[in-house]
Amino acid sequence: LTQDGAPFALSTVTIDGAEYRSFASAPDNMAAYFRFMLNHADKEFTVYRDNRMTFGESYAQSAALARSLIDDFGVQPGDRVAILSRNNPEWMMGFIAVLSIGAVAVPMNAWWTTEELDYGLKDCGAKLVIVDRQRMERLLPLQDELQLKLIAVDDCDGLAVDFSKFKDLVAAHAGAEMPEVEVTGDDHATIMYTSGSTGHPKGALSSHRGMLSALYSWMLLGLSAKQAGGDSEPAKFPASGLLTIPLFHCTGSHTAFLLSLIVGRKLVIMHKWDVQEALRMIEEERVTWFTGVPTMSAELQAAAAESDRDLSSLAEIYGGGAARPPAQVEKLATTFKHSSAGIGYGLTETNALGTINTGAVYRARPGSAGRPVPAVTDIAIFDENDQPVPAGERGEVCIHSPANCLGYWNKPEASAEAFRDGWFHTGDVGYIDEEGFLFIVDRMKEIIIRGGENISCIEVEAGIYQHPAVSEAAVYGVPDERLGEAVAASVVLREGQSLSAEELQSFLKEHIAGFKIPAHVRFHEEALPRIATGKIFKRQLKAELSEQLAAA
Ligand code: AMP
Repeated sequence: LTQDGAPFALSTVTIDGAEYRSFASAPDNMAAYFRFMLNHADKEFTVYRDNRMTFGESYAQSAALARSLIDDFGVQPGDRVAILSRNNPEWMMGFIAVLSIGAVAVPMNAWWTTEELDYGLKDCGAKLVIVDRQRMERLLPLQDELQLKLIAVDDCDGLAVDFSKFKDLVAAHAGAEMPEVEVTGDDHATIMYTSGSTGHPKGALSSHRGMLSALYSWMLLGLSAKQAGGDSEPAKFPASGLLTIPLFHCTGSHTAFLLSLIVGRKLVIMHKWDVQEALRMIEEERVTWFTGVPTMSAELQAAAAESDRDLSSLAEIYGGGAARPPAQVEKLATTFKHSSAGIGYGLTETNALGTINTGAVYRARPGSAGRPVPAVTDIAIFDENDQPVPAGERGEVCIHSPANCLGYWNKPEASAEAFRDGWFHTGDVGYIDEEGFLFIVDRMKEIIIRGGENISCIEVEAGIYQHPAVSEAAVYGVPDERLGEAVAASVVLREGQSLSAEELQSFLKEHIAGFKIPAHVRFHEEALPRIATGKIFKRQLKAELSEQLAAA
């Protein structure tokens, strides 16, 4: 990869027995990248419930849908098309179709409520949504105002709204070639929403080249690991990944879905996370590769230790999205003796590209997020004057890479603040040791990471303040064994008012997605403690409640 993220040149490579020709003319846009699927057209690509599709079938259906998007819906290059569904093959085909015709895919969080969807759809300006039943129901109250065109990916019969069926559109255009639309590396490819410190989620806008820089970087990493022999034993089974993470997160869409297209890896799709189901799928589908947030790999390890299923196919257990407790790294090594564990660090804003730590190196430094993924990612630690600090010293983790997104959609100020002089300022606090290993130790931004899901404290506080009985509220994270962190709220009520934790929680269900609702609510009789600047002293609240919970 060149420094600006242009594709690299290789001769012939062999991956798991399949030969791939030169990448000298590797594409700089996703439309051309998707054609790699035709290199392994007859291989099985997706396994979803009773449905199995090859790479060729999946590409053909994507082409038919792309034709329909242009002919039936008038989608033009640059138009935003939202994808709002749980994981399924249609999500992927929708994504392929949208990017192939130069439109911009906007994956939306499947847990969002009607209110959150209202915000997201207005923010990105999508007029067309590829959607499943559960989420179509949430769109109904918005239809009068938004007049969305809807493509249903599953059975939406009976809902009082006009929609087209994915399978009818594909059938009507069966056999269509992928439309020839000129797409360049600089064109906008995706808007992916991420919760930062500010209230509403922000849309990270990525170019085609940005996404490809991340994909080619991991590709290069995989090849170099294979050439070096790696830590894992030679693969006993054809590459097969378990898709556990929602596709609306870039770890799910990029490392699981998109990377599979170039390496010809089968994907076993989990509609939603369920550890027993994961074990069954690993055994039955001979899954070789797993990625999930640390909460999932911890559950997987605990369940596997108790299970007599044959899980010997599992060669690699990756993770990311949050720190994995070092003790878990050892447990994974003990339970999955023939596999290699790894952790990645990255953000939506960097197309998930950042650092990686795997195998024996990871076991030796289980607390580290690893070293930058070769060859184009630079990571540095800056002080408050944007000056690099010496090895071992703490500061803000900053990332320079062609995979960085272009900025936040429609948010010039937030973009200018986060992207300075080519460096993306992550808001994570960390240090890099003498050997170049990154350690994440704290966070500057007001977010909670619950089971890998980012939650803006300010957004939850805004939800709580909507309750008329509340006079003051502060939201913060407390340690949680399973999820890493749990959402907690300190609340002061207006005089004469009464409110229980359950009442507040059920009120919040109307406004914010379930995973954001505080699991712990502490009511305070007096005003919340503040620091000299007038800001609520959240560290103290967090310490007090963490202590109470630990003692309970
Ligand atoms: P997201 O944009 O949803 O992928 O979240 C990115 C944030 O997740 C980062 O800014 C970190 O705070 C956190 N994160 C991701 N990976 C790791 C990791 N390996 N270790 C610690 N924190 C992580």
